[in-house]
Amino acid sequence: MTDYPMLHLLIDGEQISGDGRASEEVINPATEEVLGTLPHATSDDLDRALEAAQRGFHEWRKVSADKRSAILTKAANLIRERASEIGEALTREQGKPLAEGRGDALYSANLLEFYAQECRRIYGRTLVRPEGARAEVQYHPVGPVAGFAPWNFPAINVMRKIGGALAAGCSAIVKPSEETPASGIAMVQALLDAGVPGGAVQCVFGVPSEVSEQLLGSPIIRKLTFTGSTPVGKHLAKLAAEDLKITTMELGGHGPVLVFDDCDIDKAVETMVANKFRNAGQVCISPTRFLIEENSFARFRDRFTECAAAMSVGNGLDKGTDMGPMANARGLDNISKLIANAQDKGGKLLTGGERIGNQGFFHQPTVLSEVPLDADIMNEEPFGPVAIINPMSGEDAMIEEANRLPYGLAAYAWTNDPARRRRLAADVEAGMLAINTGGVSTVDAPFGGVKWSGYGSEDGREGVMACMIVKAIHEG
Ligand code: NAD
Repeated sequence: MTDYPMLHLLIDGEQISGDGRASEEVINPATEEVLGTLPHATSDDLDRALEAAQRGFHEWRKVSADKRSAILTKAANLIRERASEIGEALTREQGKPLAEGRGDALYSANLLEFYAQECRRIYGRTLVRPEGARAEVQYHPVGPVAGFAPWNFPAINVMRKIGGALAAGCSAIVKPSEETPASGIAMVQALLDAGVPGGAVQCVFGVPSEVSEQLLGSPIIRKLTFTGSTPVGKHLAKLAAEDLKITTMELGGHGPVLVFDDCDIDKAVETMVANKFRNAGQVCISPTRFLIEENSFARFRDRFTECAAAMSVGNGLDKGTDMGPMANARGLDNISKLIANAQDKGGKLLTGGERIGNQGFFHQPTVLSEVPLDADIMNEEPFGPVAIINPMSGEDAMIEEANRLPYGLAAYAWTNDPARRRRLAADVEAGMLAINTGGVSTVDAPFGGVKWSGYGSEDGREGVMACMIVKAIHEG
């Protein structure tokens, strides 16, 4: 095991540590021990980062697409080489099992490599006019980007904020979560080590509301990209609107899973149990409301409950751990309240329902069934290891329930009827729909939501284009 790394800010290529700055402790959610001390950026630090981001933008935007691509590819390879140590630090600060921690780092490397390839394919178009005149449609980087990333995928979320921006030729200032800083620092350091200029990619920490107010209050920042809860997203979108900054919002979800009688129920259970309890359910695309067609309900419910109860919960660093602790105490409190409320409203608790021990934020994988619509958990994102399994009858009613909430991030369906698949694709209100699979996140496909789950996409070609502006050039 390697030691948890020293924590610092990365401003204009310089590692900046304490020196009398305000700071906070980073806690291991499996043991509640202090892992390290994280310095907060002062207001002067943030001004310096803004100035550097402006300078870094003008430097980086002029780097040819070939060279940019080579530097980003090199950074992706550095992250791969460092994936084991990044994964260990990530498990310590966030809690997820080691394989998932390492997977977080590797997905980030793959995403960066995809962006590195994509930045060579930013095509404009030519509009031919009579007598040699013409117009051109060109794409240009929007300018310095501010990105705020949460703690649930500490490396991936940071890479989603900075990878597309850098590929587009923008500079970026990212604020990873203060609860999981080491993985974010490691992403930015790999980019600096690969040759991205110090002003083009920077990493800051602080009191989130203060950092976002100062960065978004500056005319230097031309784009905001945020991942986190819907209330914070709405607040930041308003701040960005003051200066008409472009925004990408990746917010909460309440994933419906429509399971039809005509599907392979065993495969659906096996896939969705793993999906539900990955990262202790703290995933924006987590499947939450399982809507099961009547004839399959008992079989799906019983098999799913059996598999959930058999999961091994423990320290993510220990071999054989299927699910780690929740990442923080407030998540634990939140799901305890939601589970109690669901039972008060008449929902049945089939397995789990309790915190495990009193040290570390461990919670049992939990299955609730026949939960009425007025229970809080049917309306609020639980962001924890809880599945709700309810019987339903008829495709129309299932789609209506899937669309009932204001969220629309990921939805899942299990059916072998081709005509139904097309209807679901048309009618389910979601940014991503997985049919007969658990996966909705791949580096080459856009990742994003609709309604209160946000707007704009990360990953895929869309992740780069989201950091570009379009310009029409008319030549006589
Ligand atoms: P939160 O919205 O308070 O915080 C999410 C992230 O945003 C944190 O990393 C935090 O540092 C940052 N943040 C908070 N206020 C900010 C501000 N004013 N300016 C800039 N950044 C700010 O939520 P939480 O308590 O950490 O997590 C619980 C809820 O957040 C969940 O219910 C879920 O909806 C949501 N969440 C969603 C995702 C996602 O992937 N979409 C990830 C993490 C959390």
